[in-house]
Amino acid sequence: MSEDVLVRVENLEKYYEGSKTLTDRLFRRTSSPVKAVDGIHFQITAGETLGLVGESGCGKSTTGETILALRDPTGGSVTFDGTAITEFSDSEAKTFRQRTGMVFQDPLSSLNPRMTAGRIIREPLIVHNIGTEEERRERVDGLLDRVGLSPDQRDRYPHEFSGGQQQRIAIARALAVEPDFLVLDEPVSALDVSVQAQILNLLADLQADFGLTYLFIAHDLSVVRHVSDRVAVMYLGNIAEIGPVEDIFERPQHPYTEALLESVPRARLSESGRDITPLKDDVPSPRHPPSGCRFRTRCPVVIPPSDIEISQAAYREVMNLRERIEDGRLTAVDIDQTDTASEEAATRSHSGWPTELTRSLHGSNAETLTTARAELRDGNREAAIETLRDRFESVCERRRPARPDDAAHAAACHLRNWAPLWHLMNYIPCSTQTSRRLYWIM
Ligand code: ADP
Ligand code: MG
Repeated sequence: MSEDVLVRVENLEKYYEGSKTLTDRLFRRTSSPVKAVDGIHFQITAGETLGLVGESGCGKSTTGETILALRDPTGGSVTFDGTAITEFSDSEAKTFRQRTGMVFQDPLSSLNPRMTAGRIIREPLIVHNIGTEEERRERVDGLLDRVGLSPDQRDRYPHEFSGGQQQRIAIARALAVEPDFLVLDEPVSALDVSVQAQILNLLADLQADFGLTYLFIAHDLSVVRHVSDRVAVMYLGNIAEIGPVEDIFERPQHPYTEALLESVPRARLSESGRDITPLKDDVPSPRHPPSGCRFRTRCPVVIPPSDIEISQAAYREVMNLRERIEDGRLTAVDIDQTDTASEEAATRSHSGWPTELTRSLHGSNAETLTTARAELRDGNREAAIETLRDRFESVCERRRPARPDDAAHAAACHLRNWAPLWHLMNYIPCSTQTSRRLYWIM
């Protein structure tokens, strides 16, 4: 372990047990836990900023809160300055609380409305028994000044400040006990764009002045670009990709990172004509995450078995077809209806058998679909699923990609480690980002 690693996260797991309904209790059913964080791994070097990005609900806040021991992990470990946080003695735990802090997204709700700004900033000094009354007052005035407020404002209440000023108070409170490490959980997401840059600049200045280490959480890649040294991209409780900020933006390795980058508005005119493929659909439930690669249900480049030549669009349809049979959205009854007059309407509404898809495939791919259709129509649902799985199942479905390791830049994607070269054929005609895809595979 390199000496200046301040925070080390290994296989960290945080599952939230679901609350049981009355019927669950009656039948003594156990409900599946929410796998908010599911085996993540990274380290943060002293003095650096690690950006943590991903869509809402993918486990970023849970990660930050678990690292700060505000939540107990259900697996794995967090080490702070060489000691596992679960093994701290009482005095070590107290020191840890003093050396760490958090800034939240919504400043107003994180500030006690019945306390003045001065009292809010003084509170941690009282809790940690730091300084005399006079020293505390001086420290509070110094902090107000340092975060860009005036000491005269110490007697005002949170609601008397603007959103940006409230966040400055929250930052001053976090700095009061002179911490080494802060988790900044979407600190500018609730602020006006014009104020965001001011707060980001303030955070950067404070980091330089006090030698702070940050875990900077955001759902928007464009925000982390300006503040991070390295970036970890999170998806459904996993780290999809981690690397130096320039590599993440210029040479992304994971299709999810690419998709996030695509959704960042570009200011430059030269880029305004690019081909935008925004992320479709919502993040699946972390209670029942997809098997294999968690991103596969939304991934634009799922890997077909090596002996199948099929366009990504048709392959996606085949996978959707099997999913519809598996979760009971497509049954023998739907096919009977498709047989009778309403075939076209059913195809259009995606409720029946995808006749167009069957027609568009050739050879054994088409035969497999015809066989599966006959099996389903005859009431043999399991056989239909098996037939489709046998022929079409993707490695992305079967196996979880290897977790990004400690390498400088790494992604958890089968395309990185697995795709045979001829698969390039699948990507070249359907994407404007050929060069990037070539890069992944080389
Ligand atoms: P993010 O910060 O990336 O938006 P969170 O860490 O807040 O994600 O949440 C991750 C998942 O865990 C979400 O599905 C969320 O609903 C769930 N979750 C968060 N907190 C709790 C909790 N206290 N109990 C149960 N589920 C939770
Ligand atoms: Mg959050």
